[in-house]
Amino acid sequence: MTEQIKRMYINGEWVEAESGNTLEVKSPATGELIGVITYGDGRDTKKAIDAADAAFKEWGSATARERSKYLSELSALIHKNRNELAEIIAAELGKPIREAKGEVLGAADNFAWYAEEAKRVYGETVPSTFPNKRIHVMKQPVGVTAAITPWNFPINMAARKIAPALAAGCTVLLKPAEATPLTSVRVFELIEEAGFPKGVVNLVLGEPQKVGAEIMANKKVRKVTFTGSTAVGKLLMRQAADQMKRVSFELGGHAPFIVFEDADLDAAANGLFESKYRNAGQMCICTNRLYVHESVADEFAQKLVERTQKAVVGDGRNPETEIGPLVNQAGLDKVLDHIEDAKAKGAKVLTGGHRLTGGEYDQGFFCAPTILTDINPDMKIVSEETFGPVVPIITFKTEEEVIEAANASDFGLAAYMYSQNVSRCLRVPEKLEYGIVGVNDGSPTQTQAPFGGFKESGFGREGGKWGIEGFLETKFVSYGI
Ligand code: ADP
Repeated sequence: MTEQIKRMYINGEWVEAESGNTLEVKSPATGELIGVITYGDGRDTKKAIDAADAAFKEWGSATARERSKYLSELSALIHKNRNELAEIIAAELGKPIREAKGEVLGAADNFAWYAEEAKRVYGETVPSTFPNKRIHVMKQPVGVTAAITPWNFPINMAARKIAPALAAGCTVLLKPAEATPLTSVRVFELIEEAGFPKGVVNLVLGEPQKVGAEIMANKKVRKVTFTGSTAVGKLLMRQAADQMKRVSFELGGHAPFIVFEDADLDAAANGLFESKYRNAGQMCICTNRLYVHESVADEFAQKLVERTQKAVVGDGRNPETEIGPLVNQAGLDKVLDHIEDAKAKGAKVLTGGHRLTGGEYDQGFFCAPTILTDINPDMKIVSEETFGPVVPIITFKTEEEVIEAANASDFGLAAYMYSQNVSRCLRVPEKLEYGIVGVNDGSPTQTQAPFGGFKESGFGREGGKWGIEGFLETKFVSYGI
């Protein structure tokens, strides 16, 4: 094999897995080999934890301004290398290049934001009950932090965890997803270029269960921040219990998107398109249930079908592509299963409804963007996360009814509503049991806003001033004077 094997970054050095194992990374659009990584286990993870632990003493007590300098430098380097990073994301994930560029800029923005937020970790003094005592409250870094990330945002998921952790004074090991490790390798080359002291940020590439088991068993790891499936989140939470490890979880979603009879239907169709088809529907904030008032349902469905049929589906590296492939065979199988299940239980297909085949499609995991009607609550798509380009249309009659239906989910990450009625726009979000609500906005995420869910979508928040809280402990010092 001529391909150079990409290595892990531990204690400031590029190293191969103890096991000598490797893993191939392939394009989900064409099946071609695009890289090979070293693929480790608990032994490499332990080394990274030891390195992060040794580096914590200095990094955790450095001034915020010192830490900030490194974060700013990294932000600038990501910005400078944005095109190359976007191309790696498009190649390993199939994400449309335009979206990939947006994601890279988002990552640069996160590092820039937390370079500043590092300087705003304020303490407090609180008036005492007693004249001879003083109360001081200070914030300190939690300690060694393990960040476990999924494949759907290969750079920004890492940035949203690493940036606030480092800003707070924690040292970090990152374990990216198996499908998209090449982006992380490039980011760590930039981390090296930014000159971070050795051991402060480490990259572990390896088998999830083995890496995870070491992270959860090792007492030096004080905090685990995880984005991924609810099933793995629950497993990690159980494993964290023994040591009371700090955890924050950003898990699955099942977003309702509500179109009221007084909505601007064109704006709603655009918002839906964005919230459903971005990243081929592989986002935890993606619309999974579309509720449309019965009086505008036919008109809205028509608009959606027209827009969807024009969508360009293909390899993300092609600049015209609007919707890329699913990440792998399992992802495609799940989406097709949801479509077949809905059809078997009476759903009607307005457009799509099948795998795309023929020509270049035969090599990749492509699903036709799909719109379904005649949905009933027994269908998997109504309760399980589809993670693909499928829109089930459900009609409703009243505001109360649709709020109840929207909340009837174990998930609680994102919800959307479209209406031109000001009272309704204020009233309805208050009743939705979701951590993020887009009102006439199909793409609500921003660096400075809190991102996270209710219920089984997890807890803890990423983004803005909230994102750093999970990496800080609160210490109360009582002074007798
Ligand atoms: P998805 O279904 O989106 O791939 P996962 O929850 O399986 O979501 O994966 C998210 C991240 O969690 C990935 O980096 C994956 O390697 C990691 N992961 C999967 N299983 C475990 C585990 N048992 N312990 C720790 N990390 C895991």
